[in-house]
Amino acid sequence: MKKLFSLVLVLFLSVNAVLAEIVMYNTKTGKIHKLSCPSAKSCTVNCIKIDKKEAKARGGVACKKCGG
Ligand SMILES: [Zn+2]
Repeated sequence: MKKLFSLVLVLFLSVNAVLAEIVMYNTKTGKIHKLSCPSAKSCTVNCIKIDKKEAKARGGVACKKCGG
């Protein structure tokens, strides 16, 4: 029973991790970048790290290079 509980917990945590995807959001251009995107790395002034859902809610669009 304890094993099953652990499995459920792990599943729950991984689903949560997928739902809360942190992206780099450029507040000036409205572009959403993956953290690994070169544009995200070079963007230090206007970019903020937020949840992808939050970025979309702010009117963000996915970057063409990394796909957001
Ligand atoms: Zn990008």
